[in-house]
Amino acid sequence: MQESPVAIPCPVCNQEGEVYMIAHIDEIPYFGEHTQVTVMCHSCGWKQTDFIPAEGQKAGCWSLLMVDSKQLKSRVVRSSSCTIRIPELDLQVNPGSNATGYVSNVEGVLNRFVEVINMVLRDLQNDVSTKIMEDQTPEFLQTVDEISQLEGILTRLTDIGGTQSEPFTIELLDPHGHSMIIDDAATERELTTEEIATLPTGPDPAVFSA
Ligand SMILES: [Zn+2]
Repeated sequence: MQESPVAIPCPVCNQEGEVYMIAHIDEIPYFGEHTQVTVMCHSCGWKQTDFIPAEGQKAGCWSLLMVDSKQLKSRVVRSSSCTIRIPELDLQVNPGSNATGYVSNVEGVLNRFVEVINMVLRDLQNDVSTKIMEDQTPEFLQTVDEISQLEGILTRLTDIGGTQSEPFTIELLDPHGHSMIIDDAATERELTTEEIATLPTGPDPAVFSA
């Protein structure tokens, strides 16, 4: 089996040029043919193995450009291994160690972002209004600036198709290929080997636990 270098620093020890990958095809009973991908760090010994279904479920990235509020009703299937990104707004939700999959619609996905942003906003506004900071200090001005940036993001997330709002893209990146956006305008592409190696995948399916 051949190791190929992966152009990322090790997620554990941060060493550059020490991360390698081995991929091979494997047959698992009742689960079908899979590609088994092992990523490892030669510096600290970190190692992670993942299984990518071969048939029908390719590691994929689903994208939907949000231009119309009707798209809020489009269905979204998000698996436990899925990362959600809105690149234009620099937003990302990783699967995390306790992630669970869910079926929702685009509005439900966006609401999760809105809730988190509102929480951060409340904290910042609190800092400003309770005068933890002196008026006009650099810290104060920076916080005011952050508040207005977040308010801009909120407007874009909630005013889709509005006159003030520029379109943005929702991306579902799923190394296990179990996520999708069901909308006529949604597109799918395969993830690159590098993306698969760097994306968090969430909890391992029980069937693969040692
Ligand atoms: Zn390492």
